Amino acid sequence: TEIEVNEVEQSYIMIKPDGVQRGLVGEIISRFEKKGFVLKGLKLFQCPKDLAQEHYKDLKEKPFFPKLIDYITSGPVVCMAWEGDGVVASARKLIGATNPLQAEPGTIRGDLAVQTGRNVVHGSDSPDNGKREIALWFKEGELCQWESVQTPWLI
Ligand code: ADP
Ligand code: MG
Repeated sequence: TEIEVNEVEQSYIMIKPDGVQRGLVGEIISRFEKKGFVLKGLKLFQCPKDLAQEHYKDLKEKPFFPKLIDYITSGPVVCMAWEGDGVVASARKLIGATNPLQAEPGTIRGDLAVQTGRNVVHGSDSPDNGKREIALWFKEGELCQWESVQTPWLI
């Protein structure tokens, strides 16, 4: 697994519990699908506390950390691995600013959310974190290798 040359970039995208509870799963998946990225992993999952803490370990010292962990573990999330050149930065653009009130219309948070603490979706902030997070949330064998028919045209 270590020595993969020309590895395609991947981002860990997660629909948070509020997105699932509000019935926004299809809408959110559709934004990434229509953009043209390739879905390599997908599951509905009730996140345990220790996994949420590991995922957000860089925010451990923040005052909102305990509430963030309660939020992420408050119901099932949809875990996704999306692949494509530039997917990490592009997904962050599609998602919009952390505070939904500052997120541009047309972005997921800009269109679908109002509170920072209920901002419906997560996206990795770097290719390295994309790898780290996908390894954290998915087990061996849960990702699929397949080629989208669009792939050769997306240069
Ligand atoms: P992003 O999800 O846009 O990458 P961060 O990595 O800074 O944002 O924060 C992770 C998540 O923590 C945010 O998406 C949000 O759910 C929550 N969060 C961030 N800042 C705050 C805050 N000031 N109050 C409450 N929750 C916050
Ligand atoms: Mg972040």
